[in-house]
Amino acid sequence: MALCWICKTEEGTTGEHLTKRSDIKAVLGGTGPLHLHNRQRRNIKLQSLNARKLKSTAPMCNTCNSWRTQLHDYAWETLSDALRLRRPGLKHGDIVRADRIFPYDTAKQMLNVHLFFVKWLGCQIVESNIPINPPIDTFSKAIMNGTPHQNIWLAFGVSGRDGWVGSSDVGAATFASTPGTYDYLCRIYEVGRLHVRVRFSGVKLKDDWHPRDRNRFIIADLTGEHKN
Ligand SMILES: [Zn+2]
Repeated sequence: MALCWICKTEEGTTGEHLTKRSDIKAVLGGTGPLHLHNRQRRNIKLQSLNARKLKSTAPMCNTCNSWRTQLHDYAWETLSDALRLRRPGLKHGDIVRADRIFPYDTAKQMLNVHLFFVKWLGCQIVESNIPINPPIDTFSKAIMNGTPHQNIWLAFGVSGRDGWVGSSDVGAATFASTPGTYDYLCRIYEVGRLHVRVRFSGVKLKDDWHPRDRNRFIIADLTGEHKN
């Protein structure tokens, strides 16, 4: 049994959901048939929200999955709900003030959102064994210490594409790093029209948000980005 990729002390047993259960439920409903999609596995019918295909195979221990990262999961659930249920609906160019969504401990809660996506991308990197620079240890350190990962950028946005829950494949590139390792990754997390572009990169793009920024972000136009 492999060790948990986050704490590296306990045995990894449980699989993290590739997409939050709450997000799957919100878009697809809790009762009807569920369909999973990604580049290789398009439109696979699933029997339940706990289906193994919905879970990452990256080894994670129960402590990390259900205790250490629980507040990160809750923070994303809260933000996801707030953005999806906003009326009038989100549109490109909207400015979202995080203190309207998290009136208390705004910076801490937004850091938790950031760390949720550090875990989400980290699981994919571990599962697919993608060599990256700076190394995957920087992901586990951020989660263990509750500190931002300096190379993880989030862009919250909307897409014309709706009715799907899932994620894009990981796009990878090498810019300044040694050959054979990637210093750039990009993956889109999709919940209906709400898309989150998660990038591992040394460079900030317009519309990117990072915990060191102010607690506000702009809604980006991410239409077409899932094809990356
Ligand atoms: Zn662990």
